[in-house]
Amino acid sequence: MTTTFQVPDIEASRLPALLEAMPKAELHMHIEGSLEPEMIFRLAQRNGVKLSYASVEELRKAYAFTDLQSFLDIYYAGASVLLTEQDFYDMARAYLDRAVADNVVRSEMFFDPQTHTERGVAMETVINGLHRACVDAEREQGISAALILCFLRHLSEDSALQTLEAALPFRDRFIGVGLDSSEVGNPPEKFARVFARCRELGLHLVAHAGEEGPPEYVWSALDVLHVERVDHGVQSVRDPALMQRLAKDRIALTVCPLSNEKLCVFPRLADHNIRQLLDAGLVATVNSDDPAYFGGYMNTNFTRLFAEAPGLTARHAYQLAFNSLEASFAERADKERWQQQLRSVFEKA
Ligand SMILES: [Zn+2]
Repeated sequence: MTTTFQVPDIEASRLPALLEAMPKAELHMHIEGSLEPEMIFRLAQRNGVKLSYASVEELRKAYAFTDLQSFLDIYYAGASVLLTEQDFYDMARAYLDRAVADNVVRSEMFFDPQTHTERGVAMETVINGLHRACVDAEREQGISAALILCFLRHLSEDSALQTLEAALPFRDRFIGVGLDSSEVGNPPEKFARVFARCRELGLHLVAHAGEEGPPEYVWSALDVLHVERVDHGVQSVRDPALMQRLAKDRIALTVCPLSNEKLCVFPRLADHNIRQLLDAGLVATVNSDDPAYFGGYMNTNFTRLFAEAPGLTARHAYQLAFNSLEASFAERADKERWQQQLRSVFEKA
């Protein structure tokens, strides 16, 4: 669905305030990637976990990544401080506070249970802590929040199937499944059986594809896994037939500008292809991925992208926010209410 709303002309100098004020959905954010160094140290102290970094500053200095794997190594080390239900709750509440401040009205948070169950943390500890944070944030701050369980693709499909079974007693606490971690060498079709099972269960399906991996991975995410959204998907521009397919089927791409810059998917934000995706009629969205590690939450992603990538206008801003609300798995009535709020923000700008 596209919009019939005529976006007014808005001066470039007024765009940053508009980007910040517009209601938006975040569809690609790994909750473990919201752990700020300060919180890693606080939880390490609370739980008596020994870190291999001497200080917050030393840990932050290690955030100079060269590719996806160099990031994942630090990401898993950071997650090792999470042990109790309260830890998961505190992490998610801290992120949701940031999201509310950025006028995120809906967040669909990824979580990686295998990162925790492999360390001996129980599935229910993870899910209950995160779920309670979603419920409390919704009640106290009005943000709509939901969880998507991700399988780690560098592990086996059998491990993913076991993870799914362990999570099924909590089926009412997550809305879908995704696929993340090291992409290259771990194509979507490796997880065909577990995704087929999730489809039978009526779970929403998404997968990371085409971040560093080739367009073929996006094709198999669509045709083998039957995903409803593609996470990243920026490599799709290398395949015109794929671009047409994504546009025709209105498959949303959850693009993460600061992540792409930090992990060297694009040398600079100025080289990012999001305008190309939007202008080709694709349902592109902006998201923060792992905000504590990549230099910013939602509004920083929007404002830096619009400041640095050439040719982005108020029309693109509106489309990105509209797309995010439309591509969310929220109820239709909620989406329409948020889209009405979006129009008013632009009318008053
Ligand atoms: Zn991601």
